[in-house]
Amino acid sequence: MRIAIVGGGIGGLAAALFLRQAGQEATVYEQAAELREVGAGIVVSPNMARPLRKLRLLAELERIAVRLDAAWEFRRWNDGRVLFSQPMGEACERMYGAHCYVAHRADLLALLQKALPAQWLRLDHRCTGIGQDGGEASLTFADRGGRETRVTADAVIGADGIHSTVREALAPGADARFSGLCAFRCLVPQERAPAMALRPVQTLWLGPGRHFVHYPICAGRLVNVVAIAPAGDWRAESWTAEGKIEDMVREFAGWDERLRQLILSATDTKRWALYDRSPLERWTAGRISLLGDAAHAMLPFYGQGAAQAIEDAEALAACLQGAQADSAAAALLRYEEIRRPRASQVQLMSRGRELRNHLPDGPEQLQRDAELARGDPLRDSAWLYGHGLPSAPAAR
Ligand SMILES: Cc1cc2nc3c(=O)[nH]c(=O)nc-3n(C[C@H](O)[C@H](O)[C@H](O)COP(=O)(O)OP(=O)(O)OC[C@H]3O[C@@H](n4cnc5c(N)ncnc54)[C@H](O)[C@@H]3O)c2cc1C
Repeated sequence: MRIAIVGGGIGGLAAALFLRQAGQEATVYEQAAELREVGAGIVVSPNMARPLRKLRLLAELERIAVRLDAAWEFRRWNDGRVLFSQPMGEACERMYGAHCYVAHRADLLALLQKALPAQWLRLDHRCTGIGQDGGEASLTFADRGGRETRVTADAVIGADGIHSTVREALAPGADARFSGLCAFRCLVPQERAPAMALRPVQTLWLGPGRHFVHYPICAGRLVNVVAIAPAGDWRAESWTAEGKIEDMVREFAGWDERLRQLILSATDTKRWALYDRSPLERWTAGRISLLGDAAHAMLPFYGQGAAQAIEDAEALAACLQGAQADSAAAALLRYEEIRRPRASQVQLMSRGRELRNHLPDGPEQLQRDAELARGDPLRDSAWLYGHGLPSAPAAR
């Protein structure tokens, strides 16, 4: 089978690797002239680390990422009181068959790209049109010089992100929903960061209307900061839009002094408005289907967008293994049946988490904090991190 994947992000590259491993001929068409990622960190949760192990990339990930052996820690916004702290290391491996890592996005993308022989990746191919008849699908691409190429395929996977052209062809008008929030993101060099932020701990500070996350990446050389706050009139969705450190300081005024220090040790920040989409009613039409953010763009509150894209990639390859051109459509429907309920659930739960993370101080916040203190978040995450394991509980 000839499979065309539109989009060479984390999802598209992982799909090509899994499909090739399953014996199918998959080619990635990416609009950019070179693969690039934004300067930011990413959590590689166990449900993402397990598929990476199947791609034989875990050893390399261990080299470039920080393993969260120590803890996962929630703190209170104004005094830093630890609401709970949980060791991740051995317990995580025992329960979910893999550790949890934090990495630089560019390192993760480079890891996938390195594993993909260059001839399976066509850069400077922006998909501008897509169609199908009973026999095959066809795609049109434009390059920077305005030249057009036409490609035919037995199956097409739209892995072209939140503004997917392929999704627009399948499900026109599925508008993005503005969350009212924005994300500030910065990377702080180790030597400038306060000691508290250098620990191999994913720390999440909860406060009224906002939350603040930090963890070290790049073998500890940088601290990744992502801070979620009300967007005000900020609407730019671009991951490269520049924000202002002083706006970030103002948003987190009154929070623990160590956070102010951490913000002030950054030299610049990106800022973008957070959008998501509601679950789609279908991902597939005939020979065309969707994967990753193109299928299920979600808010980042479970750190699961890329993990879900990689789960998609693995499931897609399992469904297409052994399929022929004339059974492609049935295989894609099977893939959608397996993946759409799971990804939609994570999408909706990510949306729901805002409320809990951002409670104003008061009775509900006290109740949440008491539950956190009693809880076992690692075990409670079994539906998420243990997905597909024989011991995993059913989805909540
Ligand atoms: C603040 C924030 C924090 C996050 N943190 C985490 C985290 O910790 N863990 C996690 O798992 N996820 C996280 N995510 C989500 C994650 O980043 C995304 O879900 C993931 O990058 C989606 O991957 P993708 O390959 O589907 O799409 P993308 O990464 O968007 O890739 C799409 C690719 O398609 C290309 N493309 C687009 N249009 C075309 C076209 N017409 N023709 C050809 N190519 C095209 C693009 O250039 C791009 O390379 C976070 C997201 C945000 C916003």
